[in-house]
Amino acid sequence: MATITLNPGKERPVQQRHPWVFSGAVARVQGYVGRGDAVDVCDASGEWLARGTWSSGSQIRARLFTWNADEPIDEALFRRRLERALATRIWLGYSGEDIACRLVYAESDGLPGLIVDRYGAYLAVQLLTQGMAARAELITGLLAELVQPRGIYERSDPDMREKEGLPPGEGVLWGEPPPEQITTRQPGGLVFLADLRAGQKTGAYLDQAQNRVRVAAYCAGRDVLDCFCYTGGFSVAAARAGAAHILAADTSAPALAMLEANLAANAVGGVEPVEADVFKLLRQYRYEGRLFDVIILDPPKFAHAQNQIERATRGYKDINLIAMQLLRPGGVLATFSCSGLVSADLFQKVVFGAALDAQRDVQIIERLTQAPDHPVLLTFPEGEYLKGFICRVL
Ligand code: SAH
Repeated sequence: MATITLNPGKERPVQQRHPWVFSGAVARVQGYVGRGDAVDVCDASGEWLARGTWSSGSQIRARLFTWNADEPIDEALFRRRLERALATRIWLGYSGEDIACRLVYAESDGLPGLIVDRYGAYLAVQLLTQGMAARAELITGLLAELVQPRGIYERSDPDMREKEGLPPGEGVLWGEPPPEQITTRQPGGLVFLADLRAGQKTGAYLDQAQNRVRVAAYCAGRDVLDCFCYTGGFSVAAARAGAAHILAADTSAPALAMLEANLAANAVGGVEPVEADVFKLLRQYRYEGRLFDVIILDPPKFAHAQNQIERATRGYKDINLIAMQLLRPGGVLATFSCSGLVSADLFQKVVFGAALDAQRDVQIIERLTQAPDHPVLLTFPEGEYLKGFICRVL
């Protein structure tokens, strides 16, 4: 096995079990290492620190799997880690044939580069590093054995694959191809249809499952505006909670079509889909003097890289400011950011700036984060990306 020697002073994060080795930390590589191969990591004095998998092209040169010199990166390790991840989800209460949840959340489950989402009898898998791509067969075989799904489908994020120098990864890995619509059950007893092949991400936004139920608690009898609604996660929850009327806005026509199907699947109505750009729609409503009791802002990721953070904060401030202006006194703003590069602190400052400019007193009622099937490993705080505030706008 090849060995990576770190530059002097670069051993600390590795000793603290952070699972990434950046290219700038690598002094030299001894021995031949191919894409995705296992490598040992040593400090500048040659002392063994950890073992991981090599990524030849990426800024992150190695993903670390173990800090135990006697533990090889082999089938037994993958089996142990997968079993542990599956047991955690069962312990969390995610069970039942039609459950939708994240079974494996990469670094947080000790499996850097691997994401596995379950949609009932089908698994959607993302292999996001050279190490995981090289072990596709091993992973697929273990998942087939341990979960016994009907099919395993790859839906790897193409941007992340590109950063790793990997071609796009999509298609059936094992078993039957998933049907166009899989009916799943999610927290709060809500039913959602997922399209693993054509839907966004791996088919649904599982990270918001519990938050939809939290936000819905403020919607009974209210006039709700659900911005960036996708297939209606928040709208369906609000309708079930007895909202008076819901406007659900998104630019994606296929997502809005699925929203209608989701309403039917939950036997609820009262939701009006609007195919529109939220940035424009909010301005139009302000111009028309329309008011709401509850506004939900769940935009896509605005910051994909460090140099996009400032632009992202401007985008967040823009929509939050107008949303506050559209709320009746005492109204509720449920506002989210899924940009990992925008910290909860920074996001709070952005919402603060919006409140100042809107000249409204705004109280944070609840702080929200990603669902428990997306846990955050303490040695890898980067695993936390979703933050949200439920605010009362006075
Ligand atoms: N709230 C959803 C998830 C939202 S994901 C849920 O609970 O499931 C973000 C959504 O924003 C995507 O559906 C995407 O189509 C939509 N979107 C992106 N840019 C948009 C824009 N400018 N205006 C309206 N929708 C947009």
